[in-house]
Parts: sequence; structure tokens; C-alpha cells
Amino acid sequence: MQTTIESVSLATDLICSRCKQPYDIHQLHTFSPCCNKPFLVNYDLADAPEKEELKNRRQDMWRYQEFLPVFDAENIVTLGEGFTPVRLFENFKNVDIYLKDESYNPSGSFKARGIGMAVSKAKELGVTHCIVPTAGNAGSALAVFCAKAGIKATVVMPSHTPAIFIQECKLHGAEVILIDGLISDCGKKVAEMKLETGAFDVSTLKEPYRIEGKKTMGYEIAEQFNWQLPDVIVYPTGGGTGLIGIWKAFREMQQMGWIEGKLPRMVAVQSSACQPVVKTYASFTGQKNDYELPSASVANGLAVPFPFGMDLMMEVLTGSNGTAIALSEEEIISATIEAAQQKGTLMAPEGAAVWKATRKLIDAGWIKENEKALILNTGTGYKYLDNIILRQ
Ligand SMILES: *Cc1c(COP(=O)(O)O)cnc(C)c1O
Repeated sequence: MQTTIESVSLATDLICSRCKQPYDIHQLHTFSPCCNKPFLVNYDLADAPEKEELKNRRQDMWRYQEFLPVFDAENIVTLGEGFTPVRLFENFKNVDIYLKDESYNPSGSFKARGIGMAVSKAKELGVTHCIVPTAGNAGSALAVFCAKAGIKATVVMPSHTPAIFIQECKLHGAEVILIDGLISDCGKKVAEMKLETGAFDVSTLKEPYRIEGKKTMGYEIAEQFNWQLPDVIVYPTGGGTGLIGIWKAFREMQQMGWIEGKLPRMVAVQSSACQPVVKTYASFTGQKNDYELPSASVANGLAVPFPFGMDLMMEVLTGSNGTAIALSEEEIISATIEAAQQKGTLMAPEGAAVWKATRKLIDAGWIKENEKALILNTGTGYKYLDNIILRQ
């Protein structure tokens, strides 16, 4: 446990992800006023420690504290998030598929990483009330971390969100507001409410630090694979913080000389009910962008109709020679049931979608024999039992 208040963070400033203009990291920011784009945290990596120094550190995401933006360790709000296990899930047609299981996080999803970071920074910058539009898991995480921090939480969710998310948020003392619509409609409500209440909006990528929490998945993957990254990483994509964050971590580690050689090909997986990332990426290769107005998905976390971080996601997919694919709702439901019945693994539908997408990419020859693939199960299946059982 870090007790000193002397800062070990190497963060220097926030930069606009489009024009690279720097901004003061010691002030409260949302997104860049110059270009209306997400901010990215910049670090002075010249003073970085050697990777061997990580060995005896705490077993959570704060083991990477130099590369995280909290300056005073007393502001860290933590429930032990991160450092989740990786195991060999299956060998499919001579491809080893590894699973990093994020369901072990507090509040049952990897949202704990991003929101834990956002709440810690909010505390450091004097925020007393946070608000978020959510498909479920971000709201749970916000309720949980704000309870620990003593910060008021308001959570705005689609009314079709499984009841367990709503109950959980309420139990942790959050204010819950239900909206008839998708997460983009919840976002509109948040925009109104933050003007009325002065609450700080921690929406995906409109808040600069959630991505830094999600980035720790990239550091962990490198460490857990003994600094030899897998060939392919397959990620369930909604707002895209994980995709962008993992890639940011790889870039930082490359700069520090912690990893060498080719980086993994990154794959974004979506539902055909809502696939803006798949359609936008396909339009780069000359296909028509025939993205239709989306509907809800059984994989709640994937249904983000207009992600704010689209440009950054495209940079990751093109920069890594990656790809983006969508599965039908039926495929996602049957993959969740198959993982439960054939693998003894209760996944969130988002995670099951990724597993099935990986098999498809192997079948199609996009992932080749003897390559290694890593899939992320981003959340616990327990919260989705109603979604799955009712449709079986
Ligand atoms: C939010 C969420 C996602 C999507 O994550 P992004 O980083 O926003 O793309 C995927 N799976 C689950 C379970 C989620 O809660």
C-alpha cells in the first residue's frame, strides 16, 4: 500500500487527441474545447521505472501508479480492481484462445477500472457530485466507487436495463433516473441535468481519466504474457475506452522499451443491432456506410449508437491492422448459453460475443494456426440472467 503523499505519477498534461494542444492537468476538464474531441493524458516516460520493479507490487491496477494520473495517493479510491486472471480458455483449430476474465472486478465488470480512476481524479479535483449515462455496468461502478469516496452519484439508464443494475445502484445510495430510449437518450438527459445541478459528467471519453483506468488492462496483458503479447486481442466494443486504452498502454510500453516487436491486431466486436464501429471501419475500405438507426442489444454494453471516441477507435483498428465484426443477437445469446453449458463459464453476453467472433475469425482464416488470441470477458454473467433466460 502506497502511504507517502509524494507523487509518483509521471503525468504531465492533458492533450487534445486531435490537435495535440496541451491543457493543465491540475484543473477539472471534460473534453477538448479546441476540437471537441477526447483528451488523452500525457506522461514523461523518460523517468519510468524498469519493468522488473513491478514484481512485488500490490495486486491491483494501482501497481502501475507511475502511469496513472492521480498525484496524491490519498485520493486513490480503490476496491481492489484490476489484476484479473488470464487462463487458456480453449484451443480451437490450433489457435490458443486465452481469456482475461474481468468479471472478478468490484461491481462485476471492467467498468470498475475506468470509473475507479475517474472517481479518484474527481476526488483529487474537488468534485462532490458525479453523473453518468449508462447501459448498466458503468452506473453500478459509479454507485460503488462514489459510495466509497463519499461523493454523490446520479445514474441515468435506459428503462429496459435489467432490474439488478437498478437495484444495485440504489442499494449503494445512488440516485437512479430511467429513460425510455437508448444510452444516447440518457446522454441528452445528463447534459440537461448537469446544467441544473452542477454535477460532473463522467461519460465515456468526455471525461479524460476513465481511459487511463481501462489502460491498465494493456499493462496487465503484457505482464501476464511475460512481455510477449498475443497476436490478436478481441474486444467487445461500445464506447471504445478499452480498445483505445489497451492500445495506449502498448504505445507507452513500447516507448519505455518494455515490449518489442509487432503489436497485436485489435478486433472490435459489436452486435448487428448497433454497429457504428463496424460500419465506419468498413467504409474505410470502400464499403458503403449503411449504418441504420440502432436498437437495443442483449449485450447492453455494446449498444452505443454514436461513440464519442470513434476517431480514436479507427486509429487503433487501422494502426494495428485489426478488424471489426458484428454478431447477430441470436448468435450472442447462443454463445452465452454455449459458454455456460460447454465451458462452465458464465460470461456477460459481451464476452460471449467476443468468444464467438474469435471462432469465426479463425474459421475465416483471419486468425491463423498457431497464433495466440486473447479474448476479454468484460463482465459477470449474473447480471444478465434475465436477458438470457427469458429469450431462450
Ligand atoms: C461498457 C461495456 C462494454 C463496452 O466497453 P467500452 O470500453 O465502452 O467499449 C463491454 N462489455 C461490458 C460488459 C460493458 O459493461
